[in-house]
Amino acid sequence: MAKDNVDLICSIGELAVLFEKTSSLDGFLGKVVNTIAYHMKAAVCSVYLFDDDSQQLVLAATQGLNPEFVRHVRMNPGEGLVGQAFANSKSVREADGRQSPYFKLVPGLNEESYRAFLAVPLLRGLSRIGVLVVQDPVADYFSENDEKALRAIASQLAVTIENARLLIGLREKEPKAPTPRPREEMAKFIKGTSASGGCALGTAVELGRFDPAEYVGAAGRHLTLEDFTKAVAMTEQQIEALQHEMEERLSDVASLIFSAHLLILKDESFSGAMSDRIRGGEEPFSAVHEVVEGYAALFSRSQNAALREKTQDVRDLGRRLLHNLVGGEMDRADYNGCVVVCADLMPSDMLKVVGQRAAGLLLAGGGVTSHVSIIARSLRVPMVIVSDRRVLDLPSGTRLLLDGDQGTVFINPEETVLKNYGELDRARVQAEAAEKNVRPETFTRDGRRVHLLANINLLSDLPVALRLKAEGIGLYRSEFPFIVRNDFPSEEEQYVIYRRIVREMGGREVVFRTLDIGGDKILSYFPTVNESNPFLGLRAIRFSLRHREIFERQLRALLRAGEGVPLRIMFPLVSSVDDFVEARDILHDCAHALAEAGIPHQPHPEVGVMVELPSAVEIADDLADEADFLCIGSNDLVQYILAVDRTNEHIADLYVPYHPAVLRALKRIVDAATKQQTDLSICGDMATDPRLIPFLLGIGLTKFSMDSRRLPQIQEVISGTDFKAAQAKAESMLLMRRVSEVATFLGYPVIDREKI
Ligand code: PEP
Ligand code: MG
Repeated sequence: MAKDNVDLICSIGELAVLFEKTSSLDGFLGKVVNTIAYHMKAAVCSVYLFDDDSQQLVLAATQGLNPEFVRHVRMNPGEGLVGQAFANSKSVREADGRQSPYFKLVPGLNEESYRAFLAVPLLRGLSRIGVLVVQDPVADYFSENDEKALRAIASQLAVTIENARLLIGLREKEPKAPTPRPREEMAKFIKGTSASGGCALGTAVELGRFDPAEYVGAAGRHLTLEDFTKAVAMTEQQIEALQHEMEERLSDVASLIFSAHLLILKDESFSGAMSDRIRGGEEPFSAVHEVVEGYAALFSRSQNAALREKTQDVRDLGRRLLHNLVGGEMDRADYNGCVVVCADLMPSDMLKVVGQRAAGLLLAGGGVTSHVSIIARSLRVPMVIVSDRRVLDLPSGTRLLLDGDQGTVFINPEETVLKNYGELDRARVQAEAAEKNVRPETFTRDGRRVHLLANINLLSDLPVALRLKAEGIGLYRSEFPFIVRNDFPSEEEQYVIYRRIVREMGGREVVFRTLDIGGDKILSYFPTVNESNPFLGLRAIRFSLRHREIFERQLRALLRAGEGVPLRIMFPLVSSVDDFVEARDILHDCAHALAEAGIPHQPHPEVGVMVELPSAVEIADDLADEADFLCIGSNDLVQYILAVDRTNEHIADLYVPYHPAVLRALKRIVDAATKQQTDLSICGDMATDPRLIPFLLGIGLTKFSMDSRRLPQIQEVISGTDFKAAQAKAESMLLMRRVSEVATFLGYPVIDREKI
């Protein structure tokens, strides 16, 4: 069938000009899809545009598919054939799209009868703005020439669409009544990513869901002002109790965590306004609903990020008030027995949800920082991240089984699944029994002494580290009290936390890492410049050196906490000897100032460098000479050597710790430290990978720091490893040139590069 592609390209050129005189993106896109379908003699032509807010592709116009689905069909990058074209910035041409493993049927969209499929990404420079698709019932209908033509059209259209999108997007951002998404039957099982281990069984509750309809009639009688007043008093008591409990349990990060709840509750224009409405004859339910939603609207529209965060708090409070109003069971006022489902989660929300006894957390889509996962792990709450955002629409009452070890979710699990879950739990009990066998000292099978230490994020990690016989703390990530609070912790507040760590470790080694923020670790209360590459920006020691007063406050607190005990302070992300010397000079100035003021402190701390940048590897000799100790931060080292963002799930398969470049860098660091006789340890996740332990031992590492819960397993692995054999293994691995060679040697799955 002849297709007049040249004409088509010309017509599109004309259309683009035409658009300049129109103000409707919908109208313009409608003309575009009609024109392309007509000239290509294709039954279907559709445009999907990428929505920056939801990070999804949205069907923006179609000729041939069900027009009612425009704006309702949404796909994540990588999802379906359309998502594939977008995620890989590559055309997808299929003789029969339905046969592709990526094909995703959207019931009701009326795609069933179309076979030939051709999609090209709409690219504006390096940014992807959408996908242009044609389909036809005749299999293999589109030729290579059609593909070229559609790509040419896409490149002409992209600029116009992008401009139109920006202009008209302003109007479209105005709030609209929510339109129901077409319901698709959800699978009973979703594979996601594990963020924190353990299993949870519970009822799905969307974070911030405030739906009075769920409580109507629950009291079984008419509710009065007196009932409301009692509910307010009970709510206040419950929140105060929660606050108290959190301060006991998580004193370093959870201070005043529920203060916003309490302040709002006590605000006259909140509960007072509700009482006034009830007095005026309004139903208590409606009064609570109206006032809560009024507040929520006010907060959510605020320019101030800290105020916007309170939207969740006020709805959470509303939920609790209604629960107490209908006399619901006491423990159900919290998230007891619930799996909390949400699209985004701040570290402070996580504490509130866990404080309210949530059984597990299910996160849909992106929006999660590595810190949220780290806190979940420290709090021992199972957490899974999935890309399917439909979990946010699960009807209330849906039962979820979350397996945080495997990163899987079962929706309304069957009996057999629940039985297996029971067995999983027994496996956990056995693992806990194995913890009892952990020994205070670790040796390889042929008697080489190895030191195992703990990474600590929150004070609540300390008892676990002690129980599992960590020989010390190899890394205290000091940023958590900074991240969760609403303001910088004072010198005094920091001192209390650091002193407690030193005390509880009773003379064992403790390494404090100074503030490591930036990258994806953001302080919500501190205005930062908008960086297009935050991982290459003002992160870690760079931030501390730029904000000296914040740095000095931390150093003074550390020096004071180290009084009378050995103290180790380490700087993250050091890229030069200059960085290190500048930071160390500031530390010495602080010690001097404390001495002048007669304040007790540790005058001679040992000062170390975290080796996590390629530049630091190159100058490892000099750093080893300058510093008192070195510590390999392999999580970042892998990220920066390979230029693979450690938080980007789309390239997670490229984050390969056993890459020959990483292995050789580690060897160079060990050699530099050995030559200068400088103490060296490793504290990234590589230290907990049983397959890599022989290599690490073989190149000469004898000090490993890790999440305490991994200590028993890693001790077992080391005890079963022969040092001499490990040396031979490491030597052969250092000669390997290809990632696949190392992968095969260690028994990792080999990545199929064709599929990347
Ligand atoms: C690392 O980079 O390996 C490390 C331990 O630090 P963090 O994970 O906190 O960046
Ligand atoms: Mg790091």
